[in-house]
This record gives sequence, structure tokens and C-alpha cells, in this order.
Amino acid sequence: MKPSKPGSRRRKIIVYYTLAVVLPGIVLGYFAYRGIRNDQALREKENMRRLEISSQAFFSEIDSSFVKFMYELTDDSIFSAAGKSDPSVLVLFVRDSSGSKKLITHQLLYLPSELLAIKPHLSDSPASMKEGLRLEFVEHKYPEALRFYQDMALKTTIPAEKIQSMAASARLYNKINQPEQAKALYDDMRKKFPGSLLNGQIPLALMAGMEIMKINLAAGKNIEFKNNCRQCLELLLNPSCEYNPDQFNMFYQSFKQLIPETDPVIDSLFQQLDIQRARTDYLIRILSEPELVLSNGSDNFIDSKNEIASKPVNSPELSAVYLSCNKNNSIQISMVIDFPVYLISISEKLIKKLNPDSTINIKIEDNNGNLILSKVLKEETDYLSFPFPGNLPNCNLLLSENKPGFIATLLKAGSGIYLFIFILIALLMVLGFAFIMYTLNVELRLNKLKSEFISNVSHELKSPLTSIRMMTEMLHQNRVPTDERKSAYYSAMLEESEHLSHLIDNILDFSRMDEDRKKYDFIDLDLDELLLKFIESTRERLPEPGFEIRYNRTERVPIIKADRNSILQVFYNLVDNAIKFSGTSRKIDISLSPKDDEVLICVKDYGIGIPVKDQEKIFDRFYRGSEPQRLGIKGSGIGLTIVKQIVEAHGGTINIESEIGKGSRVTVRLPLR
Ligand code: ADP
Repeated sequence: MKPSKPGSRRRKIIVYYTLAVVLPGIVLGYFAYRGIRNDQALREKENMRRLEISSQAFFSEIDSSFVKFMYELTDDSIFSAAGKSDPSVLVLFVRDSSGSKKLITHQLLYLPSELLAIKPHLSDSPASMKEGLRLEFVEHKYPEALRFYQDMALKTTIPAEKIQSMAASARLYNKINQPEQAKALYDDMRKKFPGSLLNGQIPLALMAGMEIMKINLAAGKNIEFKNNCRQCLELLLNPSCEYNPDQFNMFYQSFKQLIPETDPVIDSLFQQLDIQRARTDYLIRILSEPELVLSNGSDNFIDSKNEIASKPVNSPELSAVYLSCNKNNSIQISMVIDFPVYLISISEKLIKKLNPDSTINIKIEDNNGNLILSKVLKEETDYLSFPFPGNLPNCNLLLSENKPGFIATLLKAGSGIYLFIFILIALLMVLGFAFIMYTLNVELRLNKLKSEFISNVSHELKSPLTSIRMMTEMLHQNRVPTDERKSAYYSAMLEESEHLSHLIDNILDFSRMDEDRKKYDFIDLDLDELLLKFIESTRERLPEPGFEIRYNRTERVPIIKADRNSILQVFYNLVDNAIKFSGTSRKIDISLSPKDDEVLICVKDYGIGIPVKDQEKIFDRFYRGSEPQRLGIKGSGIGLTIVKQIVEAHGGTINIESEIGKGSRVTVRLPLR
């Protein structure tokens, strides 16, 4: 059979491994992967169901919050027009059975005349003012007119008169060219009567503010003028009294003309005014619309028992809810609430109730995708969108499950079983591969050593055989002249054949030991006698003269039970090594001594020694040190392996101490019993 090369063997094993482990692993892995995906899909489905239930609960919670809100705002105090106001309430009004409306609270910029509490009237100037007006407009006696108005302002206790006389005084200060006094008076007026109307229709604070602006503009006081502009626009945005659209428009236009729009703050105030104006107009239109239809069974009802209904208001200007309820069967209370503002105000309570353990991320977007509210713990990309129901404005509720981390998912009971299988298979495959590579390498190394061993043994067999053959030939052809030489040839041939037979014994023993076939014949053995005979025969076959083998036995050693031939093989291998590796030294010490219940056999040489890195490997099969190979000393690498096995079979131990260049000492300990 053709021996396969290591490379092709390696390839073969990898192919078998792939077929036997990797392919089934991949198939199993695929199933595990499918399992994970199914598991994931199931969990996602479950999540979706949970999120859908949460969204329904969220919407019904908003409805019940409306009912509560309605109750809170519409207690009996509402009829005395003292209803509590809330930042989200844009308009709150009641309508009695006759159909007349009463506005309770609102956030409008202005009101249509029919809803104004104080109706505007074009009153003539009061009689008390007549004298002043005459002095001012007919006779043009400004100082006298000013004194008259000032007097009047001091004396009168009627607020309307006081306001009129102060306004006239300020006007006259302007006419007599004393703008600073005029300004001070206007400022005084707007502080003292911030929510008052001049002549029942002109908002006093706005009028005074505008006059101050004009004076500052004329005087070139730019910084003061800018501050005045902001104050006036903010006042227009948050009116301190109610007035009609004409008044608003008049001031709005005047400010537009007076103020150059270069300041970003002023620009943004104008923008806000435009937005609020559009919302106010829209709300005024709603106020004049026919009432919300309240009929039993209507979808608009959020509380049928108390007849509370809600209707969405969806317009570019406004995202709001129109809430309405029947009180005492005759009075209807209605309100329009700013939905985003309302949602934000109740969001904390709403979220705490629905999502106490914060596992869901919540976002609310209006119809244009603008974010109204966001309660996000960890940004997740896969949000599920739930449109708000019909009784609420067009918004979307976006929900996503706050996924636990990878490790947490794995540790979650039962949920990651497929993933575990998947990881296990991958791990087994990797470990299997590593194990196969390891055994493969060990076997390949052993193979290499074996082939080295065969070549070494062949060499060892060849050289004694060659010399035996040469000497036999010479003797056979009678080419050896003297008897002396002949006898030397015979002893050399004997020695070589002995060496050969030891070598073959070694190989046979090795193979028997390898296959566990080695049998020992334990008999009573006198080690001292055996060693003496062995040393004697060794001395005779020493390769060169001058080699000294010293034997030292301190006391008598008791007889032990041992296999004679095996022990002889131990002596032969150890002494053969000592001779082979003696280098330039020519001395070997052998000793035999009893110690406690053991007998110690020491073989010591003074040769090349063994490097530390080799010392633990020299008992391995086929191992040969690097130094003998470099020096070309022959050997097979099984001598010490056999020695160790024989010693251990006798229940003994072997150890070696060595130093490079100084020699080695091998100690064998055999038990006495
Ligand atoms: P070998 O046939 O090579 O002698 P062994 O198993 O007897 O095989 O020895 C293994 C190796 O141990 C040797 O190759 C040598 O490197 C080392 N060794 C053994 N005995 C000695 C010694 N007395 N001095 C130095 N090296 C030794």
C-alpha cells in the first residue's frame, strides 16, 4: 500500500471533518437559525398585540381625562363667571335655553362686538370736559386748557373722567412741545389703568404705549423705541382688556407702519401675532357655528350618562377638541381646548398610569409629522403608528417596545433557547476543529519520528553487519595472516553481533511493549553479581583502550525479584548511552547501593550532557537529542523509553541529572520487595 504524504493526510482529515461535523453542524445551525427567527417573529407579534392594547388604553384614558377635566372646570362657580381657567382652554362658554351665549374664559386676541362684555359706544365727551375742549380746540389756549384738564384729573373721582382728563393733558403737553411730560403722563396712565378702555372702546394701555413709541421715535431714542415696540406687541399678543377686531386691526396696522421689521425678536412677535390672529378668527367662526349635535348613540359621546361629547377640530390653524356637556338639561357648557397643550399637561399622569415600568417608548405626532410629545427611554427605530380615534384630532400615537439588551434577552427564561443551541453548535464545531488539528499534528509528528527511527535503525544495523561481513570474508579467504589477528577478528565479530542482537532485542522489546505483549519472568536476582558480570563483558568489548569503567558497591545488596534479561537490557542501554555520549572523557562510574527499602543503580558519565529543554523529552519514544544528531552519534531514540518501561514494570523509578559539558547521572531505583 502506498503511504500517504502528511499534506494529503491532513487534507483528507479536514475533508472528513467537514463531512462529518461541519455539514451536519451547518444543517443544525440553519434549523436553529430558523428557530430563532420564528421565535423572534412570535415575540414581535406578541409585542404588536401588547402595543395595540396599550394604544387603546391610551386613547380611552384621554377620553376619561376629558370627562374629569370637564367636571373640574364646570362646577357651579361657572355660572357666576368665575370658572377656573386652564392654559389649554381656548374658549369656555355657556349657552342657556334661549340660545344666548356667555363667554366665561378665552384666549382670543379680540372679540366680536356681540360677545364683548362692555359694548363700544361712540359717546360724546362728558359735559365736564366741554370747557377744556373749547379752550383747546376753539381758542387754542393750550396752557389754560392744560391747567383745566390737570385740575379736573385731580378733582374727579370718576375713573372714566380721570382717564379722559389725563389723556387730554398728555395730548396738550405734546402740543406745547413738552414731550417728556407727555411721555411720563402716558406711562403713569398705562400703569394705573392697565385694563381700561378710553371712551369705552380704545384699549388705554395700547394707546399710551403707542404714544410713548411715537415720542421716542421723534426724539431719535432708538433703544427706548425698540423696547416700547416689544412691550406694545407683547400687549397686543396678551391683551389686558377685551376689545373688538377693529381696535386690534387699527393698532396692528399702526405698529406695522411705525416699526421697521429688522429686529428678530420683533419679527417673531409679528409672526406670533399672525398665527394667533388666524386662530382667533377660526375660533370666532366656531363660536358662531350651530352647536355641537348632542344625540344619544352619537359617536361623539364620551360619557353618555352626563351627555359629554367631544368633537375634533382639525384645521391648519388649530388642532383642538370641542368639548360640550349638558348641565341641568337647559344649559350647555362648551369649550375648545388646545389639544397639544392639553396632551402635554396630562402626559405625566397618562404615561405613569399606562406605562409604569417604562417598557414602552411613546411619541405623539400631529398630522404633519411634527412632534407634540415624546417619552423615549432608548431611541428605537421600529415604532408602530396608531392613528387617534375619530373623536380626537388627527394625530398619531407612536409606540415601541423598549427592547432589553442582548444579554438580558439571552438570560430571559426560555426566550433564547434557539440562540443557545446555535452558539453551542458553533462552539462544538470550533472545539472539534481545534481538537482534530491537535491530534493531527501529534500524529504527524509521531509519523515523522517513526520514519526517522526506521532510517536510524537501518543505519545502526548496517554498519556492524558490514564489518562482520568484511571480517568473515577475509577469514574465509585466508587473508588474515597471524593467529593473533584472527583471534582479534573473532572477538570483534562477536562484539558486533552482540551489539546487533542487543539492538534487535531493543526493537523487539519496544514493539512488544507498544502492543502490551511484553512478559516478565520475575526470579530471585543478585544484582551485584549480574552487574559484575555485565561490567566485565562490557570492558572486553570496549571500542577503544583506556576507557575506564569503575564499579562501586558500598554494602551488600539483598536479592531482589526481577526479570534477568530485562535488567541486563537496562544496564546495557544505560552504559551504552554513557559510552556513546562520553565525548572526550574516558570515565564511567557505576554504583549499586541499598537505601531504605530500595536499591539504587547509578550510571554516571563525564560526557556531553543533556540540555535542560531535552531532559523531559528523552524518555519519549523515538526522541533523540539535538546534540547527538549534530555530532553524528548514532542511535534509535528508543533506548531510554524501554529502560523506563522496564523499571516501571518492576515498580521502580528512573531519573536523570545532567549538565552540559559536565556529564549525566542516571539513577534507577528498584523496590526491594
Ligand atoms: P539513542 O538511541 O539516541 O541513545 P535513547 O533513548 O537511549 O536513544 O536516548 C535518547 C536521547 O537521550 C539521546 O539521543 C541523547 O540525546 C540523550 N541521552 C541519553 N543518555 C545520555 C547521556 N548519558 N549523555 C548525554 N545524552 C544522553
